[in-house]
Amino acid sequence: MDFAYRFDVIVVGGGHAGTEAALAASRMGCRTLLLTHNIETLGQMSCNPSIGGIGKGHIVKEVDALGGLMAEATDHAGIQFRILNDSKGPAVRATRAQADRLLYKAYVRRTLENAPGLLLFQQAVDDVLVEGGRVTGVCTQSGIVFHAPTVVLTAGTFLNGVVHVGLQQHSAGRAGDPSALRLSDRLKELKLPQDRLKTGTPPRIDGRSINFDVLERQPGDGMPGNDGSAPRRPLPVFSFLGDAAQHPQQLPCWIAHTSTATHDILREGFDRSPMFTGVIGGVGPRYCPSIEDKINRFADKDSHQIFLEPEGLTTHEFYPNGISTSLPFDIQWRAVRSIRGLENAHILRPGYAIEYDYFDPRHLHATLETRAIQGLFFAGQINGTTGYEEAAGQGLVAGANAAAQVLGRDPLVLQRHEAYIGVLVNDLTTRGVTEPYRMFTSRAEYRLQLREDNADLRLTERGRALGLVNDTRWDFFQRKRDALETQRQRLASTWVQAGALDEASATRLVGAPLTREYALADLLKRPGVTWQTLDDLAAHLGWDDSRHSPRAAQQDQLGAALADQVIEQLEIETRYAGYIRKQAEEIERLAHLQGVALPADFDYASLPSLGIEAAQRLNQARPATLHDAAQVSGITPATLALLMVHFRKRR
Ligand code: FAD
Repeated sequence: MDFAYRFDVIVVGGGHAGTEAALAASRMGCRTLLLTHNIETLGQMSCNPSIGGIGKGHIVKEVDALGGLMAEATDHAGIQFRILNDSKGPAVRATRAQADRLLYKAYVRRTLENAPGLLLFQQAVDDVLVEGGRVTGVCTQSGIVFHAPTVVLTAGTFLNGVVHVGLQQHSAGRAGDPSALRLSDRLKELKLPQDRLKTGTPPRIDGRSINFDVLERQPGDGMPGNDGSAPRRPLPVFSFLGDAAQHPQQLPCWIAHTSTATHDILREGFDRSPMFTGVIGGVGPRYCPSIEDKINRFADKDSHQIFLEPEGLTTHEFYPNGISTSLPFDIQWRAVRSIRGLENAHILRPGYAIEYDYFDPRHLHATLETRAIQGLFFAGQINGTTGYEEAAGQGLVAGANAAAQVLGRDPLVLQRHEAYIGVLVNDLTTRGVTEPYRMFTSRAEYRLQLREDNADLRLTERGRALGLVNDTRWDFFQRKRDALETQRQRLASTWVQAGALDEASATRLVGAPLTREYALADLLKRPGVTWQTLDDLAAHLGWDDSRHSPRAAQQDQLGAALADQVIEQLEIETRYAGYIRKQAEEIERLAHLQGVALPADFDYASLPSLGIEAAQRLNQARPATLHDAAQVSGITPATLALLMVHFRKRR
């Protein structure tokens, strides 16, 4: 059957990439269809029930700043929130939340069902239709044809997915879901370059069989300490529009440890391990190893930490973070039961590894459109990444760019100094992957600019211009931006005279005597001085009018939540002003590389001075600008200088 209705954008897959892609396209006003295996699994978390963390939390905030869903869904589903790296400075400070799986999925589905211009349809897609090098639609398992000039493919781990438990294997997209075999074959026919990767997950445990009395309790932020002490810090939120009142009940996690006995049991299964016997050929994530990998690689360690994370408020299921495994089930069962506190544990679902097809992302443009087929975009795990957040970031970019192509708008290409999403897409499309790619703050060279707290200031205007940001978010953003400007001026132009404070008061309030006249901004840079200090100072000096009392002015105009964001922002940008300026200058210096465009069809082998290896790498990566060429692995400053001379001359 030919479905008569013509869509602008078809998204295949209802995971974290697909849902953000579909919502982005519909927010931009496109007639959008989201086709997925099963509507019940929209927004399903295949592995651990948690969102964010170092580097990943940054992406979630960026998705939010661009009008995306993930942060809001987490605010409505999060059962434990923590700020990680709290003491390490704002660049690497990150938000992480445990989510109730069902609440998360429900929020995603509700949002999709209510998105204007977005239709859902449940069925496997078997075929991508291509005419004259351009995509024209898709065909489902039962032969229903849907037409659109753009298709975003977000099939996750499903393409030719094979699940391994010990030496047993079966075809699946993840446990309990079918693999996408036909679609995988079709993509092979289309000669899109591909390879195999693998990832794994731990067995899940019934909480009723865990002895929590012997485990260490780990409360989240906003929860009382184990000794009944006051919460370490207030309950965080993910979305810039979020409110801690949206969070459901908060739960603790628990910490357990493996022992030498556990490791001995696991070793007994090595001869039936699909990894060690070579049954699995795909490469797995090095930084997220299975427990058998850990005890093999770090043979001298006799214990590993495990976090027992609740899967939700209405289930007893626990996720034991740290013991991902594909060893045979009998070994899993005995190994889990050798852990203190888990002696009587009942395993609800076995751990497993999954191998799947992914596509070499160097064959994508920076918009995530395939170079080979016009209008066909790839996002998420099929580009060789791992993680919900990485998938969401790509989904938003691919959905927005598919819509932009249809609507004739400028594409959404974020640079490395603008967003972690820019780093992610640039790394993928210029360097490719050799193992499942996950985000780390160390991947970003401009970390101090790319903080969680300023994601909206970096991206919301951009999102608004493209049509991704709705009026509510835009109104909030504008009020915040205006308030920041007012307060910046106030900090720079409000002076405290040297004689205004006696020595003792100055030392108490701002850490040291005032030897000259100081602007409030100068005082805010002093160690230990915060916005609260400035409030105390204002009160001490009798500045009770709204011009001088920072807190009062903020709350009058903005309300508490927005005021808190403004204050955090001002504290950070004032305190780190010197470093931030230096990094901005460096970015400026590199901007000239960004301005040198490299032709898409240029044959680098025609420049003999480049050398064969550099030419091959550039021919494969096809960088769009000299700046992108600088990111290609193996490209030296000398090569860049040659390219600069050549392409400047041609202009
Ligand atoms: P998915 O979330 O996999 O969604 C794919 C969607 O596409 C599904 O809705 C599926 O039904 C649909 N689909 C596929 N093919 C078709 C088709 N032909 N027709 C219609 N619909 C289709 N991430 C981590 O960060 N850390 C981990 O430790 C980790 N471990 C993992 C362990 C396992 C076993 C698995 C399966 C995943 C793991 N992940 C982990 C990865 C994480 O789940 C993914 O990175 C993330 O879900 C990718 O999002 P996605 O949208 O690309 O794909």
